[in-house]
Order: sequence, then structure tokens, then C-alpha cells
Amino acid sequence: MSPEHVDATRLTVLSGPSGVGKGTVVAEVRRLFPHVWASVSCTTRAPRNGETDGVQYHFLSDAEFDALIEADQFLEYATFAGYRYGTPRKPVDQHLTAGRPTLLEIELQGARQVRQSMPEAQFVFLAPPSYEILQERLVGRGTEPDEVIAARLEQARTELAAAGEFDLVVVNDDIERAAAEVVALIESAGEPVVR
Ligand code: ADP
Ligand code: 5GP
Repeated sequence: MSPEHVDATRLTVLSGPSGVGKGTVVAEVRRLFPHVWASVSCTTRAPRNGETDGVQYHFLSDAEFDALIEADQFLEYATFAGYRYGTPRKPVDQHLTAGRPTLLEIELQGARQVRQSMPEAQFVFLAPPSYEILQERLVGRGTEPDEVIAARLEQARTELAAAGEFDLVVVNDDIERAAAEVVALIESAGEPVVR
């Protein structure tokens, strides 16, 4: 678990079903608010076309992933649709210690783990306008074969049912609007509440 001295009030955890637009919204958030630092996760899945090791993810073998678990290097990790994903702990702690607004884009099980270890973080759920639109986006992205899309859509039902566990829900109806809402939340994280 994370050391006590790391203040996670500037940490925002963005979660939501595959295909809802998390990656798209995070890219827009970073464009609008370059001061935010977005964590780069590790994964055992293969890179998609256009993905570069160290940019979208650190692409690891199963053995490499196991070694990081063994060395307690993950803030959280989970298996999603057959592959493993994890957040390297050290860079998150470093950026938070430096007072930098920090963003994690992770799935539900990982968000629950961070809730346990860093309850002062802000937990945001990105929701689709409807299940049908989620389906259209995942199919339209064209990055996965049909059976992988089916597994992700099945998983989406569990994720959507957990939206109420999050502090805030942002509907990704329009990229710019949703990203502006997330930026406002990130900017307000860690600020004293004015009453
Ligand atoms: P995730 O990271 O949650 O899996 P992506 O960011 O890859 O999702 O988005 C899935 C697909 O939906 C992409 O093709 C993306 O261009 C599209 N998309 C994302 N947000 C919107 C939106 N607000 N309106 C329409 N299409 C969107
Ligand atoms: P994708 O394969 O589409 O890039 O990601 C699949 C799912 O894994 C998405 O919901 C994404 O948010 C999630 N994910 C990405 N990185 C991490 C991580 O470090 N930890 C966890 N728990 N989930 C992650």
C-alpha cells in the first residue's frame, strides 16, 4: 500500500467502460490543461496499430508483469478481458508529492483498489449517453475483433452498474464538453472547499 505521507488529494481517477471515450477525453483534458500529469500504465496486451511502448502503455510480458507485482511496484493492478493492467506506483507518488494534478485512467477493479489505498483521491466515472451508443463506439473504433468486443461489452454491464460507487459521473455525450467538465474537477481537486 502507498506510504502515508503521499497526499492524494490532487489525484483524479477516471474510470468507465471500454469504448466510452476515456482515452479520447484524457487526450482532450491534456490539451486543455497541460499541467495535468497522466500516468502511463503497464499492460500485457499487445500494442494496437499506432501505439508506442512507453507512450500509451509500457507493454510487458507476463513474466515482466509478475516481477513488478512481486516487487510491489504497482499502486493497483487488475485483469481486464484476458490481459493484465497496472499503475506503476513510484511516478504517481512522485508527481503527487510535487503537488502536480495527477490523472489515472483505469478500469473498475483498479479504481476500487485505489479507493482503499488513497481514499482522499477524487473518483470520476465516465458514462456513455446509452448502452447502444457505447456499443457503436466500441465497434466503430475498429481496434478489436468481434469476440473481444463482445467480452468488453459484457464487462461494461458490470462497470455501468458500479457508477454509483464514484464521487461524480460525467456523461461523454460531447468530447469537448465532457473534457471541460473533467478539467474543472481536476482543477478543483485538492482546493479547500469554499462555503
Ligand atoms: P476508451 O478509452 O474508453 O476505451 P476511446 O477513447 O478509445 O474509449 O473511444 C472509443 C471510440 O469512441 C473512439 O473511436 C472515439 O473516437 C469515439 N468517441 C469518444 N468520445 C466520443 C464522443 N463524445 N462522441 C462520439 N464518439 C466518441
Ligand atoms: P485498453 O486495452 O482498451 O487500452 O484498456 C482496457 C481497460 O483497461 C480500460 O478500461 C482501461 O481504462 C483499463 N486500464 C488501463 N490501464 C490500467 C491500469 O493501469 N490499471 C487498471 N486497473 N486498468 C487499466
